[in-house]
Amino acid sequence: MKLIIFDIDGTLLNTTSIDDGCLLRTFKDLYSIIITEDEWVELKNQTTGTDIELSRLIFKTKFNRDPDSKEIEKIKKHFHQLLIFSFESQKEAFTEIQGAKEIFNDLINKDDFVVGISTGSWKLSAMIKLRKINIIPNGIPFSHADKFSSRIDIVKDTIYQAKLKHKTDKFDKIFYVGDGIWDFKTTKEIGIDFIGIDSNGNDLLNKMGASVVLENFADKDLFFSYIS
Ligand SMILES: [Mg+2]
Repeated sequence: MKLIIFDIDGTLLNTTSIDDGCLLRTFKDLYSIIITEDEWVELKNQTTGTDIELSRLIFKTKFNRDPDSKEIEKIKKHFHQLLIFSFESQKEAFTEIQGAKEIFNDLINKDDFVVGISTGSWKLSAMIKLRKINIIPNGIPFSHADKFSSRIDIVKDTIYQAKLKHKTDKFDKIFYVGDGIWDFKTTKEIGIDFIGIDSNGNDLLNKMGASVVLENFADKDLFFSYIS
């Protein structure tokens, strides 16, 4: 039995830029913190790119301390309001990465594969986006930034949930399908296989040394050739 774990933003849906925009806007609205494009790249480099890590770091740039739990809740609430507003007003910004939904559902229906979701998004944010492509993660091993800060722990938690659910202590193979540099680094750190999705064609994953990088899921046979 093989475990295939999917990232959400930039992998199942083309939501990376709307997501980044909502987080940056949250700090501008709540704390008048303006993050430049260069600073944003640097913040992403200093973290594994999860909502909670980025929020803590942005908050720290101004206040020189970590936000407390109340402040985290305030940040999350504002972020989710912006995301829901964007979801309603910019429907075109929440598009599926071509073929993602079909591959996801195909895998769910196959006996020899187990599907999981690991995202750096907060849970509510992840649910809003998944709803757009009719994926309800009930019963699916699913981990997110409400549970752990680091993407590495988030992916490990999904693997743990999948093992529990399927009463196994080992999968024949584990793949993480992701679009980010940190997705690739995480697979190296944990020692699992990586399938890169480069829907923007920026070639970053190839340059980082990822050996399997696809533009999207449109060529189903090609995707299955890598996981079979
Ligand atoms: Mg991503």
